[in-house]
Amino acid sequence: MNTNIDTGGIPDAAFLEKLANQYFKANPADELPGQGPIPATVPSSVSGLGVSPSVVQYGNTVDIKDTENDLPKHYSDGGGRIPVSVAGSGASPSVVQHGNNINIKNPQTGFPDQNLKNGDHNAAGAFTDSPANGSKEYFPFEGDKSFLTDLQTVLSSLMTSSSAPQFPELTSKGLDTQDFPAYYFLQDNPFAISGNIAQLPTDSISAVKPGFSTASVLPWGFDANLIKKDFPILQEVVNGKPIVWLDNAATTQKPRQVIERLSFFYEHENSNIHRAAHELAARATDAYEEARKKVQLFLNAASPNEIVFVRGTTEAINLVAKSWGEQYLQPGDEIIVTHLEHHANIVPWQQLAGKKGVKLRVIPVDDDGQVLLDEYARLLNPKTRLVSFTQVSNALGTVTPARKMIEMAHQAGAKVLLDGAQSVSHMRADVQALDADWFVFSGHKVFGPTGIGVLYGKEDLLNQTEPWQGGGNMIRDVTFEHTEFQKAPGRFEAGTGNIADAVGLGAAIDYVTRLGIENIQLYEHYLLQYATGLLNEVPGLKLIGTAKEKTSVLSFVLNGYSNDQVGQALNNEGIAVRTGHHCAQPILRRFGLESTVRPSLAFYNTCTDVDRLVSTLKHLKGKYR
Ligand code: PLP
Repeated sequence: MNTNIDTGGIPDAAFLEKLANQYFKANPADELPGQGPIPATVPSSVSGLGVSPSVVQYGNTVDIKDTENDLPKHYSDGGGRIPVSVAGSGASPSVVQHGNNINIKNPQTGFPDQNLKNGDHNAAGAFTDSPANGSKEYFPFEGDKSFLTDLQTVLSSLMTSSSAPQFPELTSKGLDTQDFPAYYFLQDNPFAISGNIAQLPTDSISAVKPGFSTASVLPWGFDANLIKKDFPILQEVVNGKPIVWLDNAATTQKPRQVIERLSFFYEHENSNIHRAAHELAARATDAYEEARKKVQLFLNAASPNEIVFVRGTTEAINLVAKSWGEQYLQPGDEIIVTHLEHHANIVPWQQLAGKKGVKLRVIPVDDDGQVLLDEYARLLNPKTRLVSFTQVSNALGTVTPARKMIEMAHQAGAKVLLDGAQSVSHMRADVQALDADWFVFSGHKVFGPTGIGVLYGKEDLLNQTEPWQGGGNMIRDVTFEHTEFQKAPGRFEAGTGNIADAVGLGAAIDYVTRLGIENIQLYEHYLLQYATGLLNEVPGLKLIGTAKEKTSVLSFVLNGYSNDQVGQALNNEGIAVRTGHHCAQPILRRFGLESTVRPSLAFYNTCTDVDRLVSTLKHLKGKYR
């Protein structure tokens, strides 16, 4: 075997692609297993796979160098063919072509970020490719050549594999590939770390997902540098630097698969839904209802009837307040929230409290930002009708003990609304295991479009609740005297909804599912630990929110600088973070603050991203104050 690898520290990507393409040529996989040849156009049953439509459309006969196929430019960066079996995986061609070589304990051991090699700030404060003083302190994996050995192992496994991979899961499930691994063709991935995983700290993982078995985690893993390539906007240059997107708690970026799914909808399926006999109405309705099913499976809801499409988390909470709250709450009843809540989970209850004479009570948190369960137990009483709280704090990153808190509320006879806006993209949200009565989230926080979100509600509860908006779509029969409403979910979807973006959300969920939410959770866990360690070393930096169970968010203040100054300095280096009160003023005031700087992580962030953040902060600190 030719192991022509650049021993200068950077693997030869072109060579790897060539090998991968040779492999795919040897294993053409021209058919979807059990499904026959891939159709020339996307049938509605395929249109929800979370696959880039153009990948499906062009099937595996595409020569990505063939411009006649009019493939978007991004497919032409490697040469060779896209195997059709990839089209069902939700994995981007670039990811598949490059393979999937991961050491999750050392997330940089995939290919180095092509956009950014080692670097530092020069005397003028600009980030450069060459360290000014030769220091590599904040680029910890630079110089670690061990991945070359690993790459050679992967290559030899590719070259010696004699048969095309088998897809028993796919075959048995037809095209419903929810549980199908994204990187099936590397099932024997030598980088899989299942042998070592038992030694990894699991406290936060098991706390987030009870019964979480680390033994089954990460059979395939992933490489954030490669995943990043699925996100066109992450290739942007800001102020002369490759962008680093660390504003994920505000909104996440969208993979090409979502963007292309949206344009496919408008190019081939667009129609109003549910009420027409024509072809496009059928396609649009199929796509929309398939998206609902995807959300159902993603949340492990018992039925698609429990999934109501709304505009986002804010609208979902308002819906519950203005329908169930107005219908069922009486003067003297009590609603409990935590001190951590986003304004979206405070204001609607306050409005309701004012209107109905209901009392709003608040569970305090400790100095790390953790909910005080003893205090919560004291607040619960027979008048408590609702506990509404966040699974993850958007300002501090605290993961609340949701399952326990829900159990306590139910024991007191109260219903529970769980705000999943900050959790769905980072951890498994199993609504049946959590036993939440309502669970709400926004599509744009989970790599989907803006303007679409989800209210999950237990089916009986939804059907026992009067709709909050009246109009088309939500009725079964209307006379001037009386209207009969649809059952859920239709009764809460009055008027023409955001059809295309619901379909886009379905594609985003497919994308996340392909990566594997547990893989994401574990990867981000280590990235957060890595970032926390380095931020703690920045002189004068104080992290706000130091709960034992945290995810994604790293709020801080930097002595000597206003938060806006820090945000500006980071922006000058192409690094996007949020500064401000994060729509969570009560919790920041609990810490004596009006605002913080808030970097927040997602699975496409890398240690290099964190290094650039820390390096800029250290430079800022060292240079001026
Ligand atoms: N709840 C939490 C915890 C949030 O972080 C957010 C947004 O940041 C919301 C609710 C509101 O979400 P949206 O603005 O998408 O409705």
